[in-house]
Amino acid sequence: MTVTEAKVWTPADAVPEKRNVWTAMKRGLRGRCPNCGEGKLFRAFLKVDDHCSKCGQDFTHHRADDLPAYLVIVIVGHILVPIILWIETDYAPAVWLQLSIYLPFTLIASLLLLQPVKGAVVGLQWAFRMHGFGEGNTD
Ligand SMILES: [Zn+2]
Repeated sequence: MTVTEAKVWTPADAVPEKRNVWTAMKRGLRGRCPNCGEGKLFRAFLKVDDHCSKCGQDFTHHRADDLPAYLVIVIVGHILVPIILWIETDYAPAVWLQLSIYLPFTLIASLLLLQPVKGAVVGLQWAFRMHGFGEGNTD
């Protein structure tokens, strides 16, 4: 007969280990796994991979949905609108000139920000154990 050591439950067992929100968001911002910071988070431009290639963290729980797009609109809008108002009130250049600068800037800035912002949102969800990120996975 073998004797196995019985596991004694303690209150600390019931509380999951706290995850650092800022570290997870920074890792997601760089397109890295919020858990280990090494594996890639995305398998395509905005397609989150199913799991981390380094630590095996399951990413299927993320529910970023439209939040990254809304945040990008807010960020780009807060950069561009004051500039547009300042240039219009002080210099009033031709409309065609303004549109030929603002529209490409808006498009390029939005495309550049979408993936990092989505990564940060996934990192935030992972850190707060949202949508199943806290169930049955190991840190
Ligand atoms: Zn990982």
